[in-house]
Parts: sequence; C-alpha cells; structure tokens
Amino acid sequence: MEIRNIAIIAHVDHGKTTLVDQLLQQSGTFRENQHVVERAMDSNDLERERGITILAKCTSVVWNDVRINIIDTPGHADFGGEVERILSMVDGAVVLVDAAEGALPQTKFVVAKALKRGLRPIVVVNKVDRSDARADEVHDEVFDLFAAQGASDEQLDFPMLYASGRQGWADYVVEGHKEDLSALFDLIVKHVPAPNVNKDAPFAMVASILESDNFLGRILTGRVEQGTAKVNMPVRALRMDGTVVETARVSKLLAFRGLERVPVDEVQAGDIVAIAGLSEATVSETIAAPEVTEALHAEPIDPPTLS
Ligand code: GDP
Repeated sequence: MEIRNIAIIAHVDHGKTTLVDQLLQQSGTFRENQHVVERAMDSNDLERERGITILAKCTSVVWNDVRINIIDTPGHADFGGEVERILSMVDGAVVLVDAAEGALPQTKFVVAKALKRGLRPIVVVNKVDRSDARADEVHDEVFDLFAAQGASDEQLDFPMLYASGRQGWADYVVEGHKEDLSALFDLIVKHVPAPNVNKDAPFAMVASILESDNFLGRILTGRVEQGTAKVNMPVRALRMDGTVVETARVSKLLAFRGLERVPVDEVQAGDIVAIAGLSEATVSETIAAPEVTEALHAEPIDPPTLS
C-alpha cells in the first residue's frame, strides 16, 4: 500500500483533535472498528497523569488505498528535540490555524522547524464557521510567518484550504460547497511525497520516540527506512558512530492502524512502527538487521538552530 507520513502542527485549541476525529470518521476507520473511541488525540491522558513522557501520537487512516500516518507534534518548546525527531519521520505537514486567532506561538515554533527541515506544509485555515473568523487575513498572516522564517519560494507557494473541522469539511474557497474533507485527503496524497525508502535493503530505522510499557518494556518508534521489520528478527542498536549498543530480538511489532496500535508480523519500509525487545537502545539510534553496520542519519542533514 502507498504511504504518506505527515505531521500535524497547531497551537492548542485550534482544532487538531476535532479535525483528526473527522478524518478518521470520513475514512471509515471508526465504522470498521465498530466501536466509538472518545477523542483521537487524548488517548494518552493516562500516561500523562502517570508522568511518563508526553508522547507523540500517531493516527493512521486509509484513503483511496493510501495509508496516511498523521503524527501529532507537541507544540511546546520543552519538547524541542522531540519535535525534530518527529519531523524526521515525515515528508509533509499540515499546519492548522484558527481562522479567528491566527498563528500563535506553538504554531510558529513548530512551523519554523518544519520549514528548516525543508518540508512544504499544507496550510489549513480552520474554524471558518466562527462568526469572528477572518480567514483571508489569517492566510496573509501565515504567509508572513513563513516569509519571516525564511521559507523558500516553494514553501511560500503553499497549498491552502479553508475548513471547519467541527462541520467536517475543507475547501479551496471559504464559500465552497464541499461537504466533506475529501479536498484535504486528496491534497495530502498529491502534495506530500511518498517516503523515500529502500524496500530491498536489510531492515533499518532510526528510533524517534522512546516509551516504556509495563508489559512490553522499552518501545522504540520510528519510520522504517529500509527493508522489512519482522517479529523475532535479530536486530542491533547502533549509535551515530556505528558503535553497537546492544543486540536483541524483536519481541513485538506494533503498527498504527486508526487510533490503535495493532500487533503485526511485519512492517514494510515507509511505514511507522513501534518495536519492543530492546532493553538499552534509545532515541536517535539506528535499529537494524545485524548486516547493517552504519547508522542512518538520525538528525536532519542541516540541523535546525534553536533560536
Ligand atoms: P486541539 O487542542 O487543537 O486538539 O483542539 P480541539 O479539537 O480540542 O478543539 C478546541 C475547541 O475548538 C473545542 O471546543 C472544539 O469544539 C472547537 N472547535 C474545533 N474545531 C472547530 C471548528 O471547526 N469550528 C468551531 N467553531 N469550533 C471548533
């Protein structure tokens, strides 16, 4: 199946959860699973309460036979390193901006990093149903923000949609007649490049997110950069300089399907996977089949500077 990996970037309350819920519903994910899930992005509240790292959440929908992995990006400056690691797993981004409030600090913080990474975000001016919406002004503000962050001509020429996540539609014009989010799905599939991965090489990925689970132990999540991850396969964790941190066996593979993580036997290059079985490996390290001796680029080639 074709894959697109995107980050979703928004200031808190600009409607990320509502929009992702609608994407799930309209792609049939809720219907398939036959159960009502509360709110897409709030599934980690428990972990948050327990004080574990605030995790990036990955939602996965299938639209016209393309799997779209949507990774929530923490907007807070405290998660700077995590934001960069998340952006390293994606080839595109959706920047969601409230049509009344405009671009706010969390939007700016993550947009700056996305632009530096060379991503070409799609802009969604959301909540245009608000009586105080000023959609066109906000469009101009986003353009100015991109320009101020040093966006290239290509990045400045961003595709843009107006939307009401709450009403479940997106369109190229404010007064459009779209009744669903098909314009957004289509734009993601057309505008975001497919992951540039090598399916035939031995398995390797960079660990982008680290979590700990009471039953599974350490869980490392990343995008499979090459080959196929398989349950029970031997793997090694490599530091950037190629030092072997540990050798282990993959005990469990979890793929992201809808809102859930589902145990699977294998995951192909390009998709995002959570791997259990390693006990020492950490973020930015390469998890790979034993025949891989060099680490993959864990960080952007041109690392963003913190300002
Ligand atoms: P998040 O913090 O970005 O995940 O935002 P939520 O999806 O939780 O939405 C924040 C608030 O904005 C909630 O009260 C939503 O009901 C409201 N909201 C979300 N989308 C829309 C929209 O399209 N139009 C309007 N008017 N309100 C919205």
